[in-house]
Formats: sequence, structure tokens, C-alpha cells
Amino acid sequence: MKANEVKECLLRAGVNCLYHCNTVVTALSFLRCGGLLSRQTAERLRLPQTRQGSDEMDKLLGVYNDIFFDSVDIHERAHKINDYGAVLFVYSIDVLDSLSNYDIGVTHDNPIRWDPDMSESERYFQRKEEFIYFQKGNFAQHITVRNISVPLPFDYLYEIVIDNPGEDRREYLNEALRCIAQTLYDCDLSLSVRVRQCPDHCSCIQKYQNSKPGYTYYRFQTSL
Ligand SMILES: [Zn+2]
Repeated sequence: MKANEVKECLLRAGVNCLYHCNTVVTALSFLRCGGLLSRQTAERLRLPQTRQGSDEMDKLLGVYNDIFFDSVDIHERAHKINDYGAVLFVYSIDVLDSLSNYDIGVTHDNPIRWDPDMSESERYFQRKEEFIYFQKGNFAQHITVRNISVPLPFDYLYEIVIDNPGEDRREYLNEALRCIAQTLYDCDLSLSVRVRQCPDHCSCIQKYQNSKPGYTYYRFQTSL
């Protein structure tokens, strides 16, 4: 669909921001090249990115060169760690104004449950009228910038939010924050970075503290 059509539909559904979550190491690659990257573009530019279990299937399904967004902050909404990582890029919905040359996809379901034979209309919303089935906060309905081979700049970025893994794993957060600050400085980027403050009923701290150190390290490591 066209970016302006999608924007209109998302605004009507109460979506004002778009959220992209990733690991620290992949986030650092984004910062170094000045914008979010599709998995394929990061690979082509030989930039470090954390492997995802869905990578091979994504190539087969033709979404490997797409950038994925959610309509909510999943960690905040679900009170648990986002599977994709510890760093969240929060964009204004107005970022769609800069994407009029791209096809914007809104998925009916997460591509991990797609079949390679599924039609375009089974995969994506096709018309504005279909958005009665769109729900803000449905984690399977992703907003994607399709086939994008350049960085998506930070002009419309509100902030970067990083998880707080708690006192026991503080070393990971400190090192990640240090590397992010250094990269912002090196790249002359002025972006707001905030450490996530969770309510007591969020399960993230317990999960970070009770999992093997590798669980946290995977999300916070600063190089591969
Ligand atoms: Zn939390």
C-alpha cells in the first residue's frame, strides 16, 4: 500500500508511533550507518547483526530486505522482554511521509507463520477498508517498509529505549550505554537514549536475573 494510505489508517487506529526492536550489536550497526537497515542490507554492507532464527525463511518469503515495525512497545504492553532484543527505536508515524517511494506492508500475521505459497492478499492488508481488522497492539500485524536497500534515517526518531537488566547484570547495560554514547559521538548523531523504567509487575528483571548470563549477553553484547 502507499505510505500515506497506511499512515491515515494507522492514525485512525490510534497508532502514533512505530517501534523497531533489536539487539545492542545490531542497533550499533544502525547508528554507524545513520539509520535502520533491512537484514539484507546489513548483510550486504557486512555490518555486524545478531542472527535471527527466521533469517533463512525470511529470504524464502521475500521479506529479508524489509524493515519491520510494531504498532506498540511490546515490552511495555506485554510486561515481558521483547524477543527481538533490548533496544527499541521509537519513530513518529510521520516517518511514513518520507517513504512515499516505498511499498508499505501491513501483515495479517507474523511471517513466521506464513506459507511460501500464500498470496499477497493473504499476507498483507490490501485496501483501506480492510483496516477494520487492524488492531493497535496486535503483535502479529507488522508494518513493514518493503524492499529497502538504504538506511532509514533517524530524522523522525523520537528516542531509543534500552532495557534495564537489573543490578546483577548491570555490567551489560553499562557497556552497552558506553558503546552507544561513543557511537553517537563518533557519528555526530544527537539522539535521545533512555533506560527503560518498568513497573514492578513487569517480568523482565526477573527474567534477566534468573536466566543464564548468555541470555542477557545475547541481547546486550556490543560486538560479535
Ligand atoms: Zn520490563
